[in-house]
Amino acid sequence: MPEGDAVYRTAARLRAALDGRPLTRSDFRVPRYASADLSGRIVLETVSMGKHLLTRVEGGLTVHTHLRMEGSWRVLPAGRRPPPGDVVRLVLANASWVAIGVRLGMVDLVPTAQEDRLVGHLGPDLLGPGWDPAEAVRRLSRAPDTTIGEALLDQRNLAGIGTIYRAETLFLSGLSPWRRIRDIPDLTSVVTRAQRLLEANKSRAATVTTGDTRPGRTTWVYGRGSRPCRRCGTPIATGALGGPGTAAKERLINWCPHCQPQ
Ligand SMILES: [Zn+2]
Repeated sequence: MPEGDAVYRTAARLRAALDGRPLTRSDFRVPRYASADLSGRIVLETVSMGKHLLTRVEGGLTVHTHLRMEGSWRVLPAGRRPPPGDVVRLVLANASWVAIGVRLGMVDLVPTAQEDRLVGHLGPDLLGPGWDPAEAVRRLSRAPDTTIGEALLDQRNLAGIGTIYRAETLFLSGLSPWRRIRDIPDLTSVVTRAQRLLEANKSRAATVTTGDTRPGRTTWVYGRGSRPCRRCGTPIATGALGGPGTAAKERLINWCPHCQPQ
């Protein structure tokens, strides 16, 4: 599942292929926008906000996409086709490149002036130019009875964390995912740690939180259910924890019962 760092990299790839060039073709394969046509318009830029992507085009329009669980953007040389079987939702092509949105969880076309309708609810973007840890802490503190495990996934508090960074941030903070917000003395260090983990990974393909890039050694607890904790040897626990509207796969949480006491 793509988290903030993967979406950040996707935005960079789309910028490299599309920025400053006129579209020769657009193909929205979602019923609502089936007749939309952006061909002839210059793409101004693509930016990421948390897990959302905004592609702004000439004439005051914004294409909003979200990868959700399985989505991706492929960038191929012009004329190439996606592999058969790909569920294509959106194509944006210019004379040199074709960007193909596969299995996108959301596709919208809105006036750029109204982007807030889609992303205005988001908390500070962990990889954005305006990252604001104090504002993230303020938003987390609005619901003191919520568990930290749920609160970190809620994009209204801070934007960009998914299951991997949630699990790894909580391990490195020594916090049980079930600890209540009001019982956490230093939320600033938690959000700062999460931001550093995403920052460290935003330019590399694999997610590495341990500093060890070798296969099978990249995470402390995520994806390591019932294997021994790298610090204390206790079997890593597996559970489900997520707020309303969270998909089942997004609730998966791993933690060390010894290093992250309740
Ligand atoms: Zn441990």
